[in-house]
Amino acid sequence: METQPLPLALPIDGHHHLASLAAEVHRTYFFKYPQLSVRWGQQIQRRSRRSIRLGSYNHVTNEIRIHPFLNAPNIPAFFIQSIIHHEYLHHVLGPTHNRRFHSHERKFHYYRESKEWIRRHLLLLLGRRAARRMAAARSAPPQLLLF
Ligand SMILES: [Zn+2]
Repeated sequence: METQPLPLALPIDGHHHLASLAAEVHRTYFFKYPQLSVRWGQQIQRRSRRSIRLGSYNHVTNEIRIHPFLNAPNIPAFFIQSIIHHEYLHHVLGPTHNRRFHSHERKFHYYRESKEWIRRHLLLLLGRRAARRMAAARSAPPQLLLF
């Protein structure tokens, strides 16, 4: 049994109050299901990346992890909630991104805004180095994030 932060507690380690964002997603879309634990993941430094995992769902522990660099003022709350929503869907529907999964994903109220946001800000998320390298190589855009 773990202690949960008070609902009104201010974020102590960053910008977004993840527990509040997750609680809203749960009560809006998944109130029929038990609330899952949603936490920031561990920060792992990598020299370069072409893709990044913004969220994950552990079907053994039923826990959702959100990448900690999303805990920043330039990341909109609806985008973090779209990832929480996506990971909740893995809990409900299983691991595959099939048609059924995608049709449920579109029920998220800011689905289109989230897709548009990631399209515009993917390079920001991947980092300046990746942006420079891809500009230099004129390579294909990096993979859309699998999460
Ligand atoms: Zn997924």
